[in-house]
Amino acid sequence: MSYFAGRGHRIPTMPETTDLYQVLGVARDATDKQIREAYRKLARKWHPDVNPNNAEAEEHFKQLTAAFEVLSDADRRKLYDEFGHEGLQGGFDPDKARAYRSWSSRRNAGGAPGDQVPFEFDLGDLFGEAFQPRPSAPRGGADILAEVELDFVDALRGVELQVAVPGHAACPTCGGSGDQIGTRPRHCAACDGTGRRQVVEGPMRIMGACDTCGGAGQRRTPCSACRGEGFVRTQTTTKVRIPPGADDGSELRVRGQGEPGLGGGPAGDLLIRTKVRPHPHFRRAGLDLTLTLPITISEAYSGARVRVPTPDGSVEMTVPPHSQSGQRLRLKSKGVARANRRGDLYIELSVRVPERDDADLAQALEKASAVYGGPIREGLRL
Ligand SMILES: [Zn+2]
Ligand SMILES: [Zn+2]
Repeated sequence: MSYFAGRGHRIPTMPETTDLYQVLGVARDATDKQIREAYRKLARKWHPDVNPNNAEAEEHFKQLTAAFEVLSDADRRKLYDEFGHEGLQGGFDPDKARAYRSWSSRRNAGGAPGDQVPFEFDLGDLFGEAFQPRPSAPRGGADILAEVELDFVDALRGVELQVAVPGHAACPTCGGSGDQIGTRPRHCAACDGTGRRQVVEGPMRIMGACDTCGGAGQRRTPCSACRGEGFVRTQTTTKVRIPPGADDGSELRVRGQGEPGLGGGPAGDLLIRTKVRPHPHFRRAGLDLTLTLPITISEAYSGARVRVPTPDGSVEMTVPPHSQSGQRLRLKSKGVARANRRGDLYIELSVRVPERDDADLAQALEKASAVYGGPIREGLRL
């Protein structure tokens, strides 16, 4: 029934018999997330890009998008729930409509004589002149996260990699419907397709999800290949250039390589998170590197020139005389280069004592004890 026979209201874009919840295949009490997911799933299936030159698919896609625009907007969804399609017309005044509805039901029930229309209004007023078409709301695709493991040196220098990108595609077995081949969704008789049932009797009607169909309003035999989801997980590979200096947990954003957008929205991004394998000799903290450098007792005592590896190739450096184990020397700007910044390389000395017995050496070192300036553990206490 339509009680808005008023002047000049907009012709609905969808037949009034089309239930927006049914278009998306969700229950009337579906959460925002369920609505979003249902839309994404169906939109992927009916998107004109996937169904070129298919007018039916295109029409279907338009309906999906229109239904989603209403049900994803809390205010519009509320109006739709209460008034159906009419509630969505431009300039619709819910207060007047409620008043009119209650007046007309009292009148039909044979209300008291003299019952008045609560406000003075013309039915056409329910739709003001304020109607403005809503811009269609394209939605951006989701980002996809891919993790790659990098060799320590590749992370320093940058590397080109084939990255496995997770995604999903319509299930090839059921064609994306999620139904077992040869089956179709059947009307749920328990809830008459509404997905809702009264759970508490009495003057207050409390509705809950139908337990026969789980709130879907339909009974389905799920496709065994995709467990009824309608899509399967896929993996594609894409070539990515990791710039020099990537660290453990760095994120690289490749624009437009994520999930496709909906309704003309932009595609999401591909986020590549790097995990860097540890190196046996080098440690990294931000852009600084630390290398543990083994030296002999003699080198520590007398000083030496030694070659050390750095990201720029090996360089010669001086170990000063009287160096101690654990002492740190700095090679400026020999750390990690990233963009136009450069860290330092710290050389941490580690004095190695021979592991073989040698009487002469033992004697020579015995003499060394006399050379310390005093007791070396003096003052050592808790
Ligand atoms: Zn399937
Ligand atoms: Zn049901």
